[in-house]
Amino acid sequence: AKANGSNQYCVYNAQLALAHERKIRVENELKKAVETEQLFLVYQPIVELETGRPIGMEALLRWVHPELGFVSPAEFIPIAEETGQIVCVGEWVLREACEQTKRWHDEGYAYLYVSVNVSARQIQQGSFVHLVQTTLQKTGLSVEKLELEITESIMQDPSRSTKVLNDLQHLGVKTAIDDFGTGYSSLYLLKELPINTIKIDKAFVDDMTNNRGHSVVKSIIQIGRNLGLKIIAEGIEHETQVEELLQDSCHYGQGYHYLKPAPVNEFALYLTKVEEE
Ligand code: C2E
Ligand code: CA
Ligand code: CA
Ligand code: CA
Repeated sequence: AKANGSNQYCVYNAQLALAHERKIRVENELKKAVETEQLFLVYQPIVELETGRPIGMEALLRWVHPELGFVSPAEFIPIAEETGQIVCVGEWVLREACEQTKRWHDEGYAYLYVSVNVSARQIQQGSFVHLVQTTLQKTGLSVEKLELEITESIMQDPSRSTKVLNDLQHLGVKTAIDDFGTGYSSLYLLKELPINTIKIDKAFVDDMTNNRGHSVVKSIIQIGRNLGLKIIAEGIEHETQVEELLQDSCHYGQGYHYLKPAPVNEFALYLTKVEEE
């Protein structure tokens, strides 16, 4: 038993070492990724459930490395957050998303807004609000066409986050809570901070098939509506979910049912298609 125990320890140790190695590799390669144009954005429509028509799109980061291949944001974003690289990467994401949205506006889709994911580390930078302001100026995107998605993790530094979110609101930039309900202090955050939108996490939307899960989604929608917020359901994959959400008075959503996050060209095709309908 003793030998076995130490064996398991070795296996465990080896796995840890491998994971650590991979992490260092990802961290090092990410440094070059911005300059060598390995990063790009894909876009997923945010639609009005009643009509199925897009009102905006979420920008999502993609990384294809020449040797590592596709690296999932679920893997590299947490690493970039830990190392602080997310500050630089996030700056690039914001500019790129605003530039592209301005292009679509100029091509006749001026009604679309863009929703950009922002990490707590970025919010903590003293210059964040200034960065948002200058990015809007440089790209020419109207301030009301930008929404920033934050997660509940910003509550680790409540006083700083409150200041930043107030300043953003003052500037006219909208804010959404992403993955609502999965973190901590969601309700506190809703009560204390200027928030325009709640995004209901896919896990809750998936769970609507059972009674308890459905009740939770209905309650989130009610809270949001009582506070006058816009509510977006994430991860919609089936028409039945659309019908239920509409019955429960959730008016907006996104998910594979409409479109998987798509590169610029493909998203543009989608726009032409919905325009013809
Ligand atoms: P998120 O912000 O919650 O984004 C939603 C995720 O759900 C995306 O995964 C999207 O591709 C996926 N998704 C959308 N609809 C469906 C659906 O119907 N079914 C399923 N199964 N999945 C769906 P993705 O693109 O892999 O991104 C993962 C996470 O990485 C994001 O979760 C976000 O937290 C983070 N992330 C992505 N881009 C950025 C970025 O530019 N900045 C920051 N800070 N984080 C980002
Ligand atoms: Ca998001
Ligand atoms: Ca989300
Ligand atoms: Ca998420």
